Amino acid sequence: MLALADSSLLKDAPYINGEWVRPADADLLPVTNPATGAELVSLAQAGREHAVAAIEAADAALPAWSALPGKERSKRLRDWYDLIVANVDDLARILTAEQGKPLPEARGEILYGAAFFEWYAEEAKRVYGETIPAPSPDQRLLVLRQPIGVCAAITPWNFPMAMIPRKAAPALAAGCTMVLKPASATPLSALALAELAGRAGIPPGVFSVVPGRASVVGDELVANPIVRKVTFTGSTEVGRMLMAKAADTIKKVSLELGGNAPVLVFDDADIDVAVQGAVASKFRNMGQTCVCANRIYAQAGIYDEFVERFSKAVSALTVGDGFDEGVEQGPLIDEAAVQKTEEHLSDAVAQGATVVAGGSRHALGGTFFQPTVVSGATPSMLVAHEETFGPLAPVFRFETEEEAIKLANDTEYGLASYFFTRDNARIWRVGEALEFGIVGVNTGIFSYEGAPFGGVKASGIGREGSHHGIDEFLEIKYLCVAGISA
Ligand code: ADP
Repeated sequence: MLALADSSLLKDAPYINGEWVRPADADLLPVTNPATGAELVSLAQAGREHAVAAIEAADAALPAWSALPGKERSKRLRDWYDLIVANVDDLARILTAEQGKPLPEARGEILYGAAFFEWYAEEAKRVYGETIPAPSPDQRLLVLRQPIGVCAAITPWNFPMAMIPRKAAPALAAGCTMVLKPASATPLSALALAELAGRAGIPPGVFSVVPGRASVVGDELVANPIVRKVTFTGSTEVGRMLMAKAADTIKKVSLELGGNAPVLVFDDADIDVAVQGAVASKFRNMGQTCVCANRIYAQAGIYDEFVERFSKAVSALTVGDGFDEGVEQGPLIDEAAVQKTEEHLSDAVAQGATVVAGGSRHALGGTFFQPTVVSGATPSMLVAHEETFGPLAPVFRFETEEEAIKLANDTEYGLASYFFTRDNARIWRVGEALEFGIVGVNTGIFSYEGAPFGGVKASGIGREGSHHGIDEFLEIKYLCVAGISA
């Protein structure tokens, strides 16, 4: 049993219309700790009828919630934020237990996620409209921004907590209601958040959580005509399917999909900063984030020095159970994740890459994997085209800036990119040439609730965070008022 200061945060059933629903004949799913295999809870999964009930409750709650003054919605969101912060230790323990990331990283994720409630609590008061100079003295033209309605959110396992406020905070601030389906591997953080939503005075039906089978619950959320908006974070493959399905009922969609992030290290970079940035980007969450560096390109003049210093830093990372002191790398989420990393590694080695750090499963067994670096990577390797989503860093060599930009952009994806240089003019040239929604310049970390996060090309549609994030949950209404001078 997971030790918590407040054990009522550990839930094992869907949260629908403000109530915990655990039918006697529920479809049970064991939720396990990936570091130990131990069962944390036996989860009662939601079925299609539960998804429908949650959607109908969201629809029923919509008029009152959207009619509340922004200032009042703001207060509830702020209370939710305060409760998350007050319970950060328990929430971090739940997150590490279900997902595996080291406890300090889990804590960081909770606070990062919570900050979206803080930020959008303020934004709830600022859903401004517009006036437009009329073409005739008889008219007044106005633009209202109104909540889109009932929203469905589908979230992945790599950030079991933070992906939720990125969606729920702007949606609720805008006056929408939401039904959320968390990933089956990691439903517990979402359920703990729901418990705190109730305590914060978020009314029944405004935020429901329905963990369950993707093919049943996920399908209902995307197909149901009451739902007006689907916001999804996950793979491009699933995102494409959801977008096609949402087309049947012309739902608005926001999609945060896969990436294949390049890191460019130029000859004029501060190598220490580049090494630090590349490690931070590549090995966050054991390489399991959609903004993790997937391809590292180092310029010929500093290639050998970069590879040496980078592989030394990677070899020094401490692998272990996320609850253990000093651990920087936990287990991978499951065996399939380990196999994908192995497949990319063996393909790179077969095509001539050299292992310079790590290179195999970790002695700890299970799904632990050594943080790995290979040098001599080439464009024909799998690692150049596919997102590894694991702790494998391939280092490619390039000669010119032009070549680096071409290589970086040579992907169907366009989420995050990074580059390191001390040349001011190059910062602008490369920053503007990279075809990605996010560019980190001389840093491996950029996430902030006040900045827009999202991708171009096959990496998605829409933005989360910042004042742009709330637009995803608002419709524009044009009011043309005539007869003024009559
Ligand atoms: P990941 O494995 O990185 O989490 P996925 O795209 O497989 O990425 O899953 C992301 C989320 O989408 C999860 O909550 C998953 O259950 C859900 N999902 C997967 N397939 C479907 C589907 N066909 N319909 C609705 N949701 C789905």
